Amino acid sequence: MKIKDILAKGRPSVSFEIFPPKKEAPFEPVKGAVERLARQRPSFMSVTYGASGNARANTVEIASFVQACGVPALAHLTCLAATRDSIAGEVAALRAAGIENVLCLRGDMPKEQSAQPGGCFSHAVDLVRALGGSGFCLGGACYPECHPECEHMESDIGYLREKVEAGLDFVTTQMFFDNNIFYRYLSKLRDRGVTVPVIAGIMPVTNGRQIARICRISGTYLPSRFKAIVDRYGDRPAAMLDAGVAYATEQIVDLFANGVNAVHVYTMNRPEVAERIMANLRSILQTDDR
Ligand code: FAD
Repeated sequence: MKIKDILAKGRPSVSFEIFPPKKEAPFEPVKGAVERLARQRPSFMSVTYGASGNARANTVEIASFVQACGVPALAHLTCLAATRDSIAGEVAALRAAGIENVLCLRGDMPKEQSAQPGGCFSHAVDLVRALGGSGFCLGGACYPECHPECEHMESDIGYLREKVEAGLDFVTTQMFFDNNIFYRYLSKLRDRGVTVPVIAGIMPVTNGRQIARICRISGTYLPSRFKAIVDRYGDRPAAMLDAGVAYATEQIVDLFANGVNAVHVYTMNRPEVAERIMANLRSILQTDDR
C-alpha cells in the first residue's frame, strides 16, 4: 500500500523505524524485532539505508520481510555516494521485492570518502527527479530546526519546496523534543506553499548520554524540562526508559490533539519501547477508529 493513501485517510497514524543488520551480522534479531513491531499494527514501517554503518544491501531484504509481516514498508535510499547505475540497481531490487514506498535522501558522505564517485547526485532533489514517474510513492526528509549545513531556515525551506515540487508525496521530520518548534515550522511550510503531508518524527529517548551527543550533532534543541529528566535518570536505564516513554507519549498525544495525524516513532529496533508507547495510546487510537 502507498503511504500517500494511508495518510489521505486523515486518521491518526503511527509508524515505526527499523535499521537493518550491519554487514555480516545475523538477520534473526532484526527480523524478531520486526515481528514484534508488526503486532502493534503500525501504519507502516520504514527501513533505514546505510545509516550508522548498516549494510545497504540489507535494506531491501528487511523491507521485504516487513511486508511479509503484513505491514507496508518504506525503504530509505541515499544518493550522495551513488552512481546512476547503482541507483538503477537499487530501484530494480525494490521493485522486484514489491516495495511501493521510497524515502529519497541525500545521506552523508562516508568518513573514508571525500569526493563523489559518479557526481550524479548532489542533493536529495536529484534522486527525487531520477525516481519521478517511476510509480513509487516518494517521501523526503525535513528539518524543523533547519538542516545543520544550511545557514538559514528560509533557504532550507526553499530547497525543501524544490524537493516537493520535484515529486515528493510526503515528508518526515527530523526528531524534535519541543512540539512548539514543530507547530511553528509546519505553519512556515504551509505559508511557503509546501502542502504535502508532514509526518512528525518522535524519538523516545532511552539512553541519556547518547541523546546529548546526537542533539549536539543534529542541532536539536533539548528543552530544560527534558534536560532535567536526562540529568536525573540518565544513569539509570530502567528509570530512563520509563521517563523516555512517558515524554514521547506526551508529545504524541499533544500532536494528535492539535490535529497532527501522522507520527513516526524512531523505535531504533527496540520493540519494547514501541509496545509501551502503543499501550499508552490504545484508547486514543481506538476512539479515533483506526
Ligand atoms: P537534502 O534535501 O539534499 O539537503 C541537504 C542539505 O543541502 C540541506 O542543508 C539543504 O538545505 C541543502 N540543499 C538541498 N537542496 C539544495 C540545492 N539544490 N542547492 C543547495 N543546497 C541544497 N541518512 C542515512 O544515511 N540513511 C537513512 O536511512 C537516513 N534516514 C533519514 C530519515 C529522516 C526522516 C531524516 C530526517 C534523516 C535521515 N537520514 C538518513 C539523514 C540524512 O541523510 C541527512 O540528514 C543528510 O545530511 C541530509 O539528507 P537530505 O535528504 O535531507 O538532504
